[in-house]
Amino acid sequence: MNDVMDMRFEVVPNGNKRSAQERAALMEDPGFGRVFSDHMVTIRWTADKGWHDAQVRAREPFSLDPACAVLHYAQEIFEGLKAYRSADEGVTMFRPQENARRFRESAERMAMPVLPDALFLQAIEELIRVDRDWVPTQEGGSLYLRPFMFASEAFLGVRPSAEYIFCVVACPVGSYFKGGAKPVTVWVSDDFTRAGPGGTGAAKCGGNYAASLVAQAEAYAQGCDQVVFLDSTERRWIEELGGMNVFFVFDDGSIMTPPLTGTILPGITRDSILTLARQQGRPVEERKYSIEDWRADAQSGRLREAFACGTAAVVSAIGEVRSTKGNFTIGNGGATGEVTETLREQLTAIQRGEAPGPDGWFRRVSL
Ligand SMILES: *Cc1c(COP(=O)(O)O)cnc(C)c1O
Repeated sequence: MNDVMDMRFEVVPNGNKRSAQERAALMEDPGFGRVFSDHMVTIRWTADKGWHDAQVRAREPFSLDPACAVLHYAQEIFEGLKAYRSADEGVTMFRPQENARRFRESAERMAMPVLPDALFLQAIEELIRVDRDWVPTQEGGSLYLRPFMFASEAFLGVRPSAEYIFCVVACPVGSYFKGGAKPVTVWVSDDFTRAGPGGTGAAKCGGNYAASLVAQAEAYAQGCDQVVFLDSTERRWIEELGGMNVFFVFDDGSIMTPPLTGTILPGITRDSILTLARQQGRPVEERKYSIEDWRADAQSGRLREAFACGTAAVVSAIGEVRSTKGNFTIGNGGATGEVTETLREQLTAIQRGEAPGPDGWFRRVSL
């Protein structure tokens, strides 16, 4: 077995990397998840050799056997985090240790080998070093990093795969809020739930997303931007959106989010907002909240704001809730509330290194 702490990455530069001009054109308006940097990291795992063959190399398609396990049984996990250009032209990351830990926990839930946290962080930093020119310099831009791992053994038997590929790719992304942050409209799904007790709701796995897409399609058909999922047992407790956690802001200034009971993804943005709010002395609660209470509190005015949060969009106000039982608006529906806006500004300032954050939230990449 390899001593993974000593893993050497072989760097094979991309012979066809884009010119500075091509890169600049691609990065002008990259959107989200469409433009990719020139390289990727791959590390292989086999039952007999453990982690080995770490490379930084040209980004290119994988060649997969049709019996490749992930294509049949969806043994796959991923992460999402951002690297930012700092004022002194350096590159920093926001709490990547938390992504490493969550990736490890997702691997355990999906019966996959654990990639040591140090190797997870090293892999990301190796990629950023090679593709540092892809970290946007414009206001609000960042390099979105997508580490993932999948079962790569060619075998149709149902058991954990004996081979895996870990990979990291990177996309320059613009500000999610180009043209102003408009509150989103959410659809409460009656028919579909995202995760059940004992299931994989707390693991960041592709399968959870596959299961959520039909509900997302229903939301679009109802003119909504996102789905809000209820618990699968009583169908009343608010859990989260398809890929973002949810917060509620009350008239006494307190904020509240549903507790992590195993069916909700433990978001790092969620945790960061809870930590910041507690530090500022704002009353914070993690408790169950029903859709009936959400409607009643929005109508009485006790509930002032609601927002969704996650790495990609950071913080996004919820302006309207639609369901088969009728629609209701949050606040005045049209504008992002004051507490939501303040939390978003505070968090993005820390993420970009413009304001100090708690110890360990900030990690500089040695270029
Ligand atoms: C990734 C994810 C989130 C948000 O997590 P962050 O760490 O804040 O990006 C929330 N819900 C689901 C289902 C997710 O996959």
